Amino acid sequence: MINVKKYLLNMLWLLFIPATFTLIYLAENNPVIVENVYSTSIFPAAAMILPFQYLPFFSFFELLLYGGSVVLIIFFVRFLIRLVRLKENRMHRVLRLAQRVLIVLAVGLFLFNFLWGFNYYRQPYSEIAGLPVHPSTSQDLYALCEDLVRDTNEARSMLPSNDDGTLAMRPDISELNAMARKAYEKAYDDGVAGIIGVRTNAKPLLSSYLFSYMGIAGVFFPYTAEPNFNNHITEPSRGSVICHELAHRQGFAREDEADFLAYAVCVNSDEPYLRYAGYFLALSHAMNRLYADDRDAHKMLQQTYTREVLADAMAKQEYWRMFEGPLEERVTNMNDSYLKAQNQEDGVKSYGRMVDLMLAQKRVA
Ligand SMILES: [Zn+2]
Repeated sequence: MINVKKYLLNMLWLLFIPATFTLIYLAENNPVIVENVYSTSIFPAAAMILPFQYLPFFSFFELLLYGGSVVLIIFFVRFLIRLVRLKENRMHRVLRLAQRVLIVLAVGLFLFNFLWGFNYYRQPYSEIAGLPVHPSTSQDLYALCEDLVRDTNEARSMLPSNDDGTLAMRPDISELNAMARKAYEKAYDDGVAGIIGVRTNAKPLLSSYLFSYMGIAGVFFPYTAEPNFNNHITEPSRGSVICHELAHRQGFAREDEADFLAYAVCVNSDEPYLRYAGYFLALSHAMNRLYADDRDAHKMLQQTYTREVLADAMAKQEYWRMFEGPLEERVTNMNDSYLKAQNQEDGVKSYGRMVDLMLAQKRVA
């Protein structure tokens, strides 16, 4: 028999749903309060105490993703078999399961926002850093690309090459983390706006190859505060991806801003590999924008890449081409919907808006 009192009491958990949406509504309309109360106070404290991020060697996110999926499937199959075999109280058992699923979703939704999601509503990075973002001309974009080609070529000239011209460097995981950590410490010391210091290492995804099929270079998992990176991708992108995921760990949720911070931290670093990784990331964003704007100008500038930069860019393009397909497309669409749901109206296109921040930075330089 249904215990009505217990059933109704459990329904109280569902109050997390309206509570979460009320908080989201308030956050959307009060970015300054979100900035001061949540992103720079509650979030860093809450993220710091989550224990799984400090476990070395493996990503708890990955364990949860695969282990959790297997457990869920087994659980549902067992539930269905029992439902067919045992006839009594069928309706009650279905309702009880539905209620449990709803409670898990309600609490999960609240925790997602409490541990991370409100960062989507903080002040724009341009305001935190005092960067004057406004519409730019094609000439501004071209001049930015010219600067970036020069800087990227120069940074690349400090690094060794394979016979085919690609970068002959693949730092191991602890070297990468040590470099990224030092770069964040230096950025903090040098007063790069918004940086609060890093205590966490980014974790390599054991199934990186599979993530490449999904078109994913890195993931920040809010429930464990773990920055995860795809360890299979080409160089020097592993360096910038780690710094991008660490920017998320600092409370910068928007993709374009995490990329801008990764760039800012990398190029401010003393480490030649990271400096190149930062410029390489920035160049790719800016040149993509130029390609959409003026193909001839794009082609002309691309011819000024050194052989080595061009080889790295081609290797990156070839790599991702290998993984193109329905899975990658589906995950990109899911990611797009996710970003739109988080108040990121441009969806995946907002990855490219980092260029506006670089243009603003160039304006004040
Ligand atoms: Zn990201």
